[in-house]
Amino acid sequence: MRKVGVAKGQQLLLYSFPDAHPMNRIRLEAFYEKMDLEKPSLPAVEYVEPEMCNVEDILLYHTREYVDFVIEKCRTGRGYLDYGDTPAFPGCFEAASYVVGTTLKLLRKILTGEFSAAFTPMGGLHHARRDRAGGFCIFNDAGVAIEYLLRKEGLENVAYVDIDAHHGDGVCYDFYREKRVIFADIHQDGRTLYPGTGFRNETGEGEAKGTKLNIPLLPYSGDDEFIKAFQEVEAFLEKFQFDFVLLQCGADGLMGDPLTNLQYSQKAHAYAASALRRIAEGKCGGRILAMGGGGYNPNNVALAWTSVVKALAD
Ligand SMILES: [Zn+2]
Repeated sequence: MRKVGVAKGQQLLLYSFPDAHPMNRIRLEAFYEKMDLEKPSLPAVEYVEPEMCNVEDILLYHTREYVDFVIEKCRTGRGYLDYGDTPAFPGCFEAASYVVGTTLKLLRKILTGEFSAAFTPMGGLHHARRDRAGGFCIFNDAGVAIEYLLRKEGLENVAYVDIDAHHGDGVCYDFYREKRVIFADIHQDGRTLYPGTGFRNETGEGEAKGTKLNIPLLPYSGDDEFIKAFQEVEAFLEKFQFDFVLLQCGADGLMGDPLTNLQYSQKAHAYAASALRRIAEGKCGGRILAMGGGGYNPNNVALAWTSVVKALAD
């Protein structure tokens, strides 16, 4: 029988920036509440307890200097980890380690066949770079996951698809010359939104040229433009072979998000997750790990992410 793991637990609520920061526990709590309501009609879904990773896991992707810097900033709990978007707070190292550990735990359970697919709401922290924080992201669990799959599990190729309203710059540029990472990203045009990157002509470098697809959308694009763009992602993915699919399904593209203007509905997320499931079933035994990513309107977060879980679990 099909089983889909969904990470749920207090430990993931620890990744919550203080004061009125948009990346806070309220968004995750809204998802948990809606997921509890939906779960009885989704017998395939099984909750999974979050897990902390160890430093060696983080070092698969991040530099030792940066990890030490986060540990030190966590001790004082003051100031910023970057230039002003990502504050340090007491316990931030442990909170970020739960994010990475939970992503890796679900990854392993998919690889052993215990789950067909899985979702972690507090994952997909795609802006962190190997040596620095960025855009609310301390450790890039998606980057760690890719390194883990290629280096520890010996997978040949990994597909990473990102539908967060912001460009997944950390994953894009830290694997820009890595042809084993098939990367596709639909996001709000970088001239109108952080981090200001992800243009059409950015397709990878050296032997990886052609393995990256960046599709910027203009503000107010809505579902129709998104679905058209996603069909281009589908055609792109069909050209490659890969052994695993990672989906960063940020909910900040939905109408009513306080930070962005793409104006999707949750139909965008349902479409993307269903299409990717179909592609993964054809290419890699259906193995997909979806990661929540951004999303700063709690109601939207709950709608978009439960749509993803439904598409994976139905
Ligand atoms: Zn975002």
